[in-house]
Amino acid sequence: MNNPLIAAYRKPALYIALPSEGKYYTTKPKLSVDNELAIFPMTARDELVTKNPDALFNGEATISLIKSCVPDIEDPNEIPVNDLLSILIGIRQASYGSKIDLDIKCPSCEHMNQLQIDGAMLLGTGPNQQAPENVKLESNFKVFCKPYSLRDRTLLQVQTIKQQKLIESLSDANLSDEEREAQFGKTFVEIADLTVGLIANCIQKVQTPDNEVFESDQVKIILEWLQSITKKDYDQIKQCIEALSENVIDTKFNAQCQSCQHEWQTTVDLDIANFFEG
Ligand SMILES: [Zn+2]
Repeated sequence: MNNPLIAAYRKPALYIALPSEGKYYTTKPKLSVDNELAIFPMTARDELVTKNPDALFNGEATISLIKSCVPDIEDPNEIPVNDLLSILIGIRQASYGSKIDLDIKCPSCEHMNQLQIDGAMLLGTGPNQQAPENVKLESNFKVFCKPYSLRDRTLLQVQTIKQQKLIESLSDANLSDEEREAQFGKTFVEIADLTVGLIANCIQKVQTPDNEVFESDQVKIILEWLQSITKKDYDQIKQCIEALSENVIDTKFNAQCQSCQHEWQTTVDLDIANFFEG
């Protein structure tokens, strides 16, 4: 923040711990002495952005929101996806307080309950153990991974929608069976290439059985290698990345119906699109 008037006006409302502890970012976020990240409340402009669910879905609004409320992260595109939920809960809490209102239907009597959970409590439910960062393949190659970034995830979402639309239009189009099959084939090869590209983005380094190391800056070599390995090895690497990308906040909680007193365990649906409606 270079504007002295804004700097005097806007102050962090709270500090949160990042599940990644600031790892995996090219430029590490500026953290407090306690290793925590400052979160600023939303501005009036941010609130307008979050009220539009379409805007949030396309990812750009999420980036703009984080830029505004978490200025100590230089490039929000680099956020590992497992940090995202903590950051969003933090922004929500900085702006509206820690209580989150939820509408939950009772599975027993279908009464619509208005329940409340505590965002601050959710932020405290980290895992005791991080997922392992590397995986050793049967061939004795060791692969060091990191979680998907927000950029990876947005790319995947945009691509998935594009492919779906293409597949729909192919079903409708006036094509011969051969032409249609050829187009479908091409589309699926494109999806496969994109997926391999995303996995390659999440590899920090590969160590061969002879202890030769290939780092992520040799991305072309790693990408070609990925395209030549067995499905079993590929799946092991993918599982390692997905475990690292998993959301670490425990969203399970015990609910009780206000009408029939039925008790059940449910999860908080913290979908970005409905998250800021409150
Ligand atoms: Zn009930």
